[in-house]
Amino acid sequence: MIFVVIIVVLLVGYTLFNARRRKRGGLTQHILNDKQKALLAQHIDYYNNLSVDDKAYFVDKIEQFLDAVNIEGVGLEITDTDRLMIAASAVIPIFRFKDWSYRNVTNVLLYPDTFDKDYQFENSDERNIMGMVGSGYMNGQMILSRAALQKGFSKNSGKENTGIHEFVHLLDKADGATDGIPEGFLPHEYIKPWVQMMHQEIGRIQSGHSDINPYGATNEAEFFAVVSEYFFEKPEQLQAKHPELYQLLTKTFGQDPANY
Ligand SMILES: [Zn+2]
Repeated sequence: MIFVVIIVVLLVGYTLFNARRRKRGGLTQHILNDKQKALLAQHIDYYNNLSVDDKAYFVDKIEQFLDAVNIEGVGLEITDTDRLMIAASAVIPIFRFKDWSYRNVTNVLLYPDTFDKDYQFENSDERNIMGMVGSGYMNGQMILSRAALQKGFSKNSGKENTGIHEFVHLLDKADGATDGIPEGFLPHEYIKPWVQMMHQEIGRIQSGHSDINPYGATNEAEFFAVVSEYFFEKPEQLQAKHPELYQLLTKTFGQDPANY
């Protein structure tokens, strides 16, 4: 009799365990192994700066992202490093949001290098796009250049990180409009100061008086994505040169990367 009870308990436990694992994602379950965690430590500075507890939390978020989003290579074979860099780009901006996940992306396509507006990466003159978030029939798709992705996580990336840039566009898009105003994240009382600051700083970029990447002056959405790259890549520098801008970005992301 006692054996029957033990077997029943084991079976119920096993079933519950599997149900819990399945609940988190689709068919595949991504559990990072030690080698993959070592790749995170090797390539992702942000991860290295986290406490032991936060590192475990970061890994958990990476696994959730890899469960939810399909990553494909176009003209290349995807590596673990590619996958982890893409997932880290997604997790870094949302790391301090409670229970937040990207609902507006299902696929990330990784191209070898920059591509043009028709998503061609060979025999093309206009090979200047490093990443893009799809709209229309490309809704839910993101395209990234592997060269740009890797450069963003290299030791001399400067203030730029294409992966983070594209995922910040998705955050911006979450409220329905990719307009540089992260309404779902920035507390209401800061929206007006944020819009004023964006326009002021875009003016400074246009007149050549800013160290922010000139691409940020294209429009408000690009401004938000470009200063977010700066915020996560060179937080101390941004805080020193643009204290108010830095302050508003800490409110948006719920993070203070210059003072970890
Ligand atoms: Zn952009």
